[in-house]
Amino acid sequence: MIMQKLIEQKPPMHWERYVWNKMCISRYKFINWLVMRGRLHTAERSVIYDPTVSPLCLLCGEADETQTHLLFQCCYSKQVLVVIKRWMNIESPGEELSGLIRSISRSRRSKFQKDACNAVIAGAVYGIWMARNDCKWNLKVPTILCIVKMMKENVRRRIFLVMPKNVSRIDRSWFQSL
Ligand SMILES: [Zn+2]
Repeated sequence: MIMQKLIEQKPPMHWERYVWNKMCISRYKFINWLVMRGRLHTAERSVIYDPTVSPLCLLCGEADETQTHLLFQCCYSKQVLVVIKRWMNIESPGEELSGLIRSISRSRRSKFQKDACNAVIAGAVYGIWMARNDCKWNLKVPTILCIVKMMKENVRRRIFLVMPKNVSRIDRSWFQSL
């Protein structure tokens, strides 16, 4: 029901392809939809309702847990993004989500590869959020290797399942090399 409502409220046009493509795993979509609107329920938002909540980032403890810090400025998330960008060969000077999406969108890749890159970024955002929640609720932080490995396996499986029959040979071998 909630998901249906969210699907009806479409994100800005230039971000549509980011999550609303079939390569993006369903559970990634909700978290990324919130991120696109700056509505992830981080400590920054929690302290509004409960001033006793610590505003600090759970993953590093060195800065307030804003959405931007948690996903793009934290030493933890920065390492995740470095690995992800290297894996997909994404060249983006920007660290923020909008910069990454823009770089992918403007690159000379095929639609297939752009959708795959977007699905990977969405997976990284989801993985970082899950790591943060693991820390909050289970008092443990997954290693970078662990969340990257899980995300890679999930995204590869998803792309394989939804791969169009008419995908080009270049795209197919690109996917097989991932
Ligand atoms: Zn942090």
